Amino acid sequence: MPHVLILGGTTEGRELAGVLGGRVRVTSSLAGRVAAPRLPVGEVRVGGFGGAEGMAAWVREHEVDVVVDATHPFAERISFNAAGAAAATGVPLLALRRPGWAAGAGDDWREAGSLAEAAEAVAGFERVFLTTGRQGLAAFAHVGGAHFLVRAVDAPEPPFPPRMDVLLERGPFTLDGEREIIARHRIDVVVTKDSGGAATAPKLTAAREAGIPVVVVRRPPVPEGVEAAATVEEAAAWVQRVAGVSG
Ligand code: NAP
Repeated sequence: MPHVLILGGTTEGRELAGVLGGRVRVTSSLAGRVAAPRLPVGEVRVGGFGGAEGMAAWVREHEVDVVVDATHPFAERISFNAAGAAAATGVPLLALRRPGWAAGAGDDWREAGSLAEAAEAVAGFERVFLTTGRQGLAAFAHVGGAHFLVRAVDAPEPPFPPRMDVLLERGPFTLDGEREIIARHRIDVVVTKDSGGAATAPKLTAAREAGIPVVVVRRPPVPEGVEAAATVEEAAAWVQRVAGVSG
C-alpha cells in the first residue's frame, strides 16, 4: 500500500485521512500545539520534524510515497518546510488549501497584511473580538486602549493584551452563538485571519448584521511551485492518481 503523509491540524486534514483510510496507508502529522487534539483515523505522529531536513529524513525513513500539506493556511513555516522536503526527496507534494472568504454586500472588511497591521487597524476601537488564535497575541500586547475578547482553544500565555478576557472554545461556531457574543460583550470590531471554511464563518455574518467592521488578515501564499487543491475531494483524487491507487 502506498504511504501518504498528511500534515494536518485542520478539519480538512482529518477528513482527508478518513477518505483515504483503507485504500492507502495514512500517517497524519500534528504539531502538538493543542493539548487534546481531535485525532484523525489512521496512524498519527505528533511534534516537529526538525525543519525541512528533518521532514525529508522522516519521509525517507518511513518510505512515504506522497505528502499532502493540509495544514492551516496560516501555518507558513511547515508549508515552506514541506516544499523543501519534497524538493529534497522527489516525493510529490500537494497543498490542500480551503478557499479564503470573500466580502459580500453590507460587509465592512478592512484588510491587514499581518497581525501587526491588524493591531494598528484596531486602534480607536474599544471592544475587540480577537479570533486569530492564541499564537500571535504578542502582536496585540502593546494595544492598551482597547479591551480584547480573545477566543482560543487553549489558554493563552503572555505576552498578550493588558485588558483581556478569554473564551476557551473550539469551533465550529453557530450564528446564534456569534450574535450573542457580539451583543453581550458590546464588540465594536472583529479581527480574524482569512482562514476560510464554514466552521468559523458565522462571525462574519454576525458582524455584518451588527454593523461592525471586520479586520481580515490576508493569508500567506502557497510556496512557489507547489500544486494546490481547494477541497478534500480534489486532494483525495490527486493522491489516488499520483500514488496509483484505484478509486
Ligand atoms: P508553523 O508556524 O507553520 O510551524 C512551526 C513549526 O511547527 C514547524 O516548523 C514544525 O516544526 C512544526 N509543525 C507545524 N505544523 C506541524 C505538523 N502538522 N506536523 C508536525 N510539525 C508541525 O505552524 P503553526 O502556525 O504554529 O501551526 C501549528 C499547527 O496548528 C499546524 O498543524 C496547523 O495546521 C495548526 N493550526 C494553525 C493555525 C494558525 O492560524 N497558524 C490555526 C489552526 C490550526 P519543525 O520545523 O520542527 O518540523
